[in-house]
Order: sequence, then C-alpha cells, then structure tokens
Amino acid sequence: MEELLKINHSVAWQATQKLHIDPDMFLSWTWQMNHQIRSLEQAESFFGLNDQERQGFIQNKDIFEIGITPYYAFLSARNGGHLAMQKQVLPSTKEFIDPDGLEDPLHEKNQSPVKEVVHIYPDRVAFCVAQLCPVYCRYCFRKRRDKEHGLHFHRHVIKQGLEYIASQTSISDVLITGGDPFLASDEAIESLISALRDISHVKIIRFGTRTPVALPYRLTKKFTQMLKRYHPIWVNTHFNCQEEITPDAALALANLSDAGIPLGNQSVLLRGVNDSWDKLASLCRQLTYHRVRPYYMFHANLVQGTQHLRVPIKTGLELIRNLRGKISGFAIPSYILDTPSGKIPLNERNILDIDGNDVLLESNHGEIWREKNAWI
Ligand SMILES: *Cc1c(COP(=O)(O)O)cnc(C)c1O
Ligand code: SF4
Repeated sequence: MEELLKINHSVAWQATQKLHIDPDMFLSWTWQMNHQIRSLEQAESFFGLNDQERQGFIQNKDIFEIGITPYYAFLSARNGGHLAMQKQVLPSTKEFIDPDGLEDPLHEKNQSPVKEVVHIYPDRVAFCVAQLCPVYCRYCFRKRRDKEHGLHFHRHVIKQGLEYIASQTSISDVLITGGDPFLASDEAIESLISALRDISHVKIIRFGTRTPVALPYRLTKKFTQMLKRYHPIWVNTHFNCQEEITPDAALALANLSDAGIPLGNQSVLLRGVNDSWDKLASLCRQLTYHRVRPYYMFHANLVQGTQHLRVPIKTGLELIRNLRGKISGFAIPSYILDTPSGKIPLNERNILDIDGNDVLLESNHGEIWREKNAWI
C-alpha cells in the first residue's frame, strides 16, 4: 500500500500531509480501526456539522453505533465536503422520525436455524460472522445486531454455524458477511475459509465487505494472495457513489482482482447519495473500469430510522430504465427488493399492483409481497 504515498491525489498522501499523521500508521488498517471517529468532538474536527447531525451525535448513541475510519472521514470532508458520503455515516435526528421502520425487516432472526446463519434459499446461506464495520452506515438493515455485544468472530457462533453448514448437504454457496468479515486477522479469516473448504458440498465461498470503500488498506497483497489459495472465492463490495472510488480503493480492488477474485458491487439506492441518473451512471461506469461488475442495487429496506434516506420505488424504476441503452449492459445492476422470502427483482413484470402507496410484488415462489408505503 506504500505506493499510494507516491500518488498525490491518493487519500493516503493528502491525509498524511494535511493531518500530520505518520504514513505507516495511516496505511495500517488496525490503526484506522482503533482511531474511528466516534465522538461529536472528533467529528467536528472533520465536518461542519449541522444542528440535526450534532444532536444526532448527542442523542443517537444508543440507537445505532457511530464510527467512521479516518480514511473515510477525511475523504468525505475533502475539498469542502461530499454530502453523498457524509449522509451515509453521520447520524441525524432524522433517524428518530420513521413510523414505518422495522427492527428486522427481512425476518432474518426467524430464518436462522442456528445463530447468525440465515437460510432462506435451499442452496446458499448468509453466515454473519462479523459485527464490527469500518463505517456504520445509517441505513444498515442489520442494525439490530448492534445491541448484542461480542458477536464479532465469536468462536462458538462460528463453530455452530460450521456444524450446521456441514450437516446440510444442499448448501453449496456460503456468503460470509456481518458486519464486515474482513475486519479480522488474516489468520482468523484463513481458519474460517479452510474450515469451510473441509466441507465437500461447499463449492463457493463469497464475502460481502465494505473494506474497499471505507478501509482499502485492509486489502493488502499478502491478504489477497492468501484468499487466492482457496478459490473459488467471490467478493461483493458496497460502493454507493463515485466519489468513493479513490486511487486507494482502486489499489484494493486491483489486489483482489489480481488474485483472480471476481468482484461484484451491491449498492443501496439512497436519497441524496445516488438517486439521480448521472450519479448512478457514473458510479456504475467507474466500477467497471476497476473490474467490478455492478451486481445489485437494493431498494432501501424499511429499517428503523431510515425514512429520510429511502427513495420511492417509482423513482428507482425510472432510474434503472434510463440506464438501459445508455451505458454498457454489464454495468447495469439488477434493482432488487430484499424480502423475508428472498430477493425480488423490481421491474414492471414483477409488480402486480399498486394499492394506495403500497407496492404488490410477486416473489420467486409465486407468493404476493406487499411493500408498504413505497410507491411514491
Ligand atoms: C442475499 C442473500 C443470499 C445471496 O443471494 P444471491 O441472490 O445469490 O446473491 C443468500 N442468502 C441470504 C439469506 C441472502 O439474504
Ligand atoms: S458496512 Fe454493511 S453491515 Fe456494516 S453498517 Fe454498513 S451496511 Fe451495515
């Protein structure tokens, strides 16, 4: 990662010059995690907070974790500030106003036969081994896990999860997620992967991570070369706006790609972040320049405290329709609504009816799903 210090538009170069931080520290992912911005005072040293954000810091502490890596804080405050990034990570009193918001909109708890293994599809599971994140996204649909301490790479949870996966021969694809599963030592991650590789019916191991976006220094050559020994490994990352694709992120993505790991991106459609045609088009294009295939664009779930960030489905459909024909076909993600019975692609074909402001959709099993208060 030291090569970033030779690129004068990298975040590492600019931040270490401006904040007078030792470059070796700034480039260390553990230093970044140990110096996450968590308090109002720390945030004020980076951002010109408005009243809602300031009060958000004061009152919100117990609602959902606050934490921002110095990397992401510097980047989102750089050159007068990028609201698209700040909105994702700064708390706000707007989080208190959300009559529709739910604690567990996907009923994941009920669909976990053992703790932190969500089993909805016959052939694949989401295995939530992590609790920590490089940034705590205000729209996260797994906020609820925050209240429970000690879930991060919990030995017993992992052991039980592995036993369950080993016992279910229909599972061929394990999605390791959390929290952020790359926030552990190389050894801890390798030991998890190698345990999964000992289960002969598990063919694909994939990770969902936000580290390329908010903590690119985690993706060292040493780490990505370790992952390479366990192919097929797939990684989905989580860029929401084009400003997040920095030289630092590009190097992280190159390290992953050069290790032969296919990269996908899952973004969430968010108000003021990526809800315009040009923002979305430029994010999707830029991703493909870095060998990342836009995979899913999620409709923001009805998660508590996210009303101010949710975008109507009608708008989402228009945005996606307008991308078609204008940018490369492989740069267009599927627009998805995640529901307790699985992911439903949002397109005209699946929308059965609009009832008031509710959207009625047909799920993969032919059931009807009602997404409340989501049309306009
Ligand atoms: C999203 C998800 C998966 C993976 O779904 P794909 O459409 O294959 O990417 C698997 N299990 C659960 C519980 C999920 O939420
Ligand atoms: S990185 Fe992922 S798990 Fe963590 S807060 Fe953001 S969306 Fe949630």
